[in-house]
Amino acid sequence: MNKDVGFFNFSVNKILTKDQTILDQARIRLLYYGLWLAIIAVGAVWLNLYVEHREILTYSTSLLFLSLVILFKYLTFRPRWGIISHILLVLATMVNLTNVFITLQSVDIITAQITFLIIVFSFYMLGQTCGLFYSLVNLIPILIFLVLMFNSSYVIGLKPKVVDESTKIISICATFIFIIFIQNYFYRAFIKNIRQLKVTAEERGSLNVELEKVLEKAEKSSQAKSEFLSTMSHEIRTPMNAVIGMTNLLMMGNPRPDQKDNLEILKFSANNLLALVNDVLDFNKIESGKVVFENIKFNLVELMQNVCGGQRLKAEEKGLDFILEIDNNLRNKDVFGDPTRLSQIIFNLVSNAIKFTHNGTVWVNVTQLEDRHNIITVDFSVKDTGIGIEKENLDMIFEPFTQESITTTRQYGGTGLGLAIVKRLLELQNLRMSVQSQPAKGSEFSFNMEFPVTTESVAEPEKQPVIAATAKAVESIGTPRVLIAEDNMVNVMLMKKLFSKWNIVPTIAENGERAIEMVQYGNFDIILMDLQMPVLNGFDAAVEIRKLPDPKKANIPIIALTASALFDIRERVFGSGMNDYVSKPFKPDELREKMQTLLSSTSTPIQT
Ligand code: ADP
Repeated sequence: MNKDVGFFNFSVNKILTKDQTILDQARIRLLYYGLWLAIIAVGAVWLNLYVEHREILTYSTSLLFLSLVILFKYLTFRPRWGIISHILLVLATMVNLTNVFITLQSVDIITAQITFLIIVFSFYMLGQTCGLFYSLVNLIPILIFLVLMFNSSYVIGLKPKVVDESTKIISICATFIFIIFIQNYFYRAFIKNIRQLKVTAEERGSLNVELEKVLEKAEKSSQAKSEFLSTMSHEIRTPMNAVIGMTNLLMMGNPRPDQKDNLEILKFSANNLLALVNDVLDFNKIESGKVVFENIKFNLVELMQNVCGGQRLKAEEKGLDFILEIDNNLRNKDVFGDPTRLSQIIFNLVSNAIKFTHNGTVWVNVTQLEDRHNIITVDFSVKDTGIGIEKENLDMIFEPFTQESITTTRQYGGTGLGLAIVKRLLELQNLRMSVQSQPAKGSEFSFNMEFPVTTESVAEPEKQPVIAATAKAVESIGTPRVLIAEDNMVNVMLMKKLFSKWNIVPTIAENGERAIEMVQYGNFDIILMDLQMPVLNGFDAAVEIRKLPDPKKANIPIIALTASALFDIRERVFGSGMNDYVSKPFKPDELREKMQTLLSSTSTPIQT
């Protein structure tokens, strides 16, 4: 509503505002001009009655005239068309019924006109319910009157003796003009409304097209960013592998103690950089929704021992106590889930606990909370006596690239991606991490996870013999005939140098297709297969090798060499028929162990 309208306003334009709908504006205009017309018409009737000396009718018409003037003033001051319409309809109904029952005591053309006017006006101005109400309030008494007239029993003495013809003519004309006026106004408003709707629809259509374009652009740019990050990280990984590989080689070559120290620093920094690149790659992958969770059988106790094994050494190097407590109920159970992702979560939490604790203890607790219908709920908790986190920062630390403070970055390094990855990995499985922490006292990060349990009874893993076998394997790998499928020349050089330490001269195939040919026409005991190669990649090459007609060749052990630290590689490697995989940069001992295990399990004689 327009608040600036003064009391002496008489203009309709001032009471119209932009927030009124087209229909409401038409209603206000209709009332404005309608009231003008009514004032003129009633004024004319009043003048006529006054000249004719009809006193009672002159008084009642004066009252009506005055009411119309007040309503007109009210409208031009505060355009409350709803209330004004109700008052007008009540007045019109009173006039109509007074005409029928008292003044005229008949139903003539004026009654029909006024009734029609009331019906049209009430529907247009106030909608269906009020329209029906006023229509019935007028029609029902008229019908009752007609029935009474039919029985000729209705006559009351108030009827004027002579019906004044001129008043009648003025009323008939004025009412007709009203009816035409209302119809005209609403027809125009209706057409205008339809046009407006069309324009709005067209505008909305073009806005939608624009929105779609902008969305597409945003999606493309986000995809480009993702791809750029991914490509960059991969590109950085390749030379990093070479740096770490070379460092490993140099360390195997009995360096002087001072050289060894420098090499240790080189290896530490290169590993840190690689971890950072891996985090960026992994986070990018999670953010672009490409993470698929595995559902494979694994043993929780073994997983925890593996993840915490290396971490325990790190903690002890820092002089911290490291306690890993695993619920006894979990010892003989195998569960289904994604061991790689779970390891990643625990690894991140334990690394942080060790990193942010100067003295005291790091506890890792794994407790079975519930066991129902072969689904267990397990609580994982990592607690430390470290520097702790301020309460107001507890949410912030889960944001990507965010650390508690600048001092954290300066003192402890890191990217601030670890907890963001952990949080998103849990969220993708509908799980939540809870944190409790007190500055200078310590922190506890915990979460619950459900696992289906296998029904087969699982024997306690016999650790000792495996370790013994491995130790033996490291000692004697023999000189097997090794085929390496690898396209990167630096990597080839690295592998050759590494193998020369074990007195093995590997054969090199520069892509997957060459590798298949060489297997067909040559004799090899084991294949090391890079996965990303031109012409034919490692996965497809492995599939083809497994299809070779000669069973001896089709069953050659194949170890995948993955440059990708991404965590879904495992399933694809086994799916394409390869026996195992090592991630680049591989630790020489790990590769040697895996080769030996596979070689000793085949019937292929090992060359010595
Ligand atoms: P980063 O370890 O690379 O700094 P994270 O995302 O793993 O990144 O952790 C984010 C921040 O949360 C850390 O920088 C640190 O301020 C805080 N934080 C995480 N774990 C702990 C902990 N156990 N004790 C104290 N602060 C922690």
